[in-house]
Amino acid sequence: MPWIMALIAVLGAAGILGITGRTHDGAGSGVRGVSLREMKSMSEKTVDWLLARLKVAEPPEPVMGAMCYDMAMPMMVDEYVCVVCGEKTVYPDGSWMLTELPECRSLAEGIDEAVDFDVHLVETSLCSHCEPDVTSPALALSVTRDDETSISNAVSRFDLVILSSFLEGRLAYTGDFGDETPLLPHVARIAELLGAGEESE
Ligand SMILES: [Zn+2]
Repeated sequence: MPWIMALIAVLGAAGILGITGRTHDGAGSGVRGVSLREMKSMSEKTVDWLLARLKVAEPPEPVMGAMCYDMAMPMMVDEYVCVVCGEKTVYPDGSWMLTELPECRSLAEGIDEAVDFDVHLVETSLCSHCEPDVTSPALALSVTRDDETSISNAVSRFDLVILSSFLEGRLAYTGDFGDETPLLPHVARIAELLGAGEESE
């Protein structure tokens, strides 16, 4: 029963800290769960269990991060090379989405590795050759569970960050400045991204 093992791993690494968090002095909320790369092949059952837990567990206290004004602005990327057709699409004004794309790809790969169902980023609307009629290109996330594929549109880097943190068994996510914010307000989006929307409410 591999999912039981995953469940134990989750409980051991983060669940205990999270659920008993109210007796904690707050330090627990800053502790990272196991890294996503260590969460191999979590079953749908385990993921649903994590979702149910997120809804009832007391959210950890938010932790402020340190602002860093020295952060260099990344170069805006203005070119997209399609992973499907290989054609190049130019974005004359540059695009944050393209700038963040490598990180989004890496987050999505980590998410796919963490679960035993298929999760992948859909980039086709970024390509003017594959989808010439698209007016506002955006990433999408495809999730296939029980032979049913659900596609979430307008997927941002933030979506992938909260989903990764959730799958690490955490009750909070870490922001760009080391700040810790509860995942609870994002539970509906997390469920939607996992294709486990409405019916699990
Ligand atoms: Zn293309």
